[in-house]
Amino acid sequence: IERVSEVLDEPIEIRDRANPRFSILDSRLGYINEITDNSEFPIENSQPELGEIRFEHVWFAYKDDDYIIKDLDFTIHPGEKVALVGPTGAGKSSIIRLLCRLYEPNQGRILVDGIDIREIPQAELRRYMAVILQEGFLFAGDVKSNITLGDSYSFEQIQQAAEKTNIAEFIEQLPQGYDTQLRERGTNLSSGQKQLLAFARASIRKPEILVLDEATASLDVGTEALIQEALDKLLVKRTAIIIAHRLSTIRDVDRIFVLKRGELIEQGSHEQLLEQGGMYATLHNLQMLGT
Ligand code: ADP
Repeated sequence: IERVSEVLDEPIEIRDRANPRFSILDSRLGYINEITDNSEFPIENSQPELGEIRFEHVWFAYKDDDYIIKDLDFTIHPGEKVALVGPTGAGKSSIIRLLCRLYEPNQGRILVDGIDIREIPQAELRRYMAVILQEGFLFAGDVKSNITLGDSYSFEQIQQAAEKTNIAEFIEQLPQGYDTQLRERGTNLSSGQKQLLAFARASIRKPEILVLDEATASLDVGTEALIQEALDKLLVKRTAIIIAHRLSTIRDVDRIFVLKRGELIEQGSHEQLLEQGGMYATLHNLQMLGT
């Protein structure tokens, strides 16, 4: 969100309503924590019922009537994984910004579990939905607080999140382990390690929804495998929207949305879209050829 915010050239004025609706998401989350606190892999073992995302005829323009998102209308079901693909400028990042409510639609509505996101206090929406951007953003501070972001979690929970996301071993080798200071730009971490730390930060919150702008940076084969494995675990039984850059990720998702100039022009599984022989098939074949 920080990185996205940086590129906004105009100040944004999204405020919570004076009387935001009763904290429905919070009470649902409370329920989930209660029923899962004693199990080893909480949400992973239960069928997801929460985490539905619905765009209802959403139109959006950054300026005037220059529509960047045109009549987007879809439902992503609890636990479903959707990849957004399409050429640069197609509107993939804008969809994510709208979902995080960095902007609001000019027309139409966005609902999370049936609730218009304008009705949900922003802090609550951010807890419900973890956003992982390409370059995991780091704060000047220790490893621990880079995972907790200042929220109260026990040391055990922090360790668990790090273990699940394949970063624990690395952290333990640092001079002061979880207390090691990190630099803001994360120069003392590789891009793969930053990614894994961002996964740990998401994992500890047990969000219903994961929004992921997959890293394009080339990683060495070992790190790539660690990341893929951590990501697979993170995605289990969670709804996910992924701006996918790697073919392996795209192939595994439930549905692929192909966007072109703000419109959803194709959707389906990898196989279905290849069979259709449309834009996805063309993009895919180009990538396969490495062009
Ligand atoms: P993608 O993520 O698919 O590359 P984006 O959602 O970033 O596409 O961009 C969609 C369109 O919106 C592009 O034409 C881009 O130039 C425009 N755009 C993106 N961000 C802004 C902004 N902050 N202000 C105005 N136009 C923007």
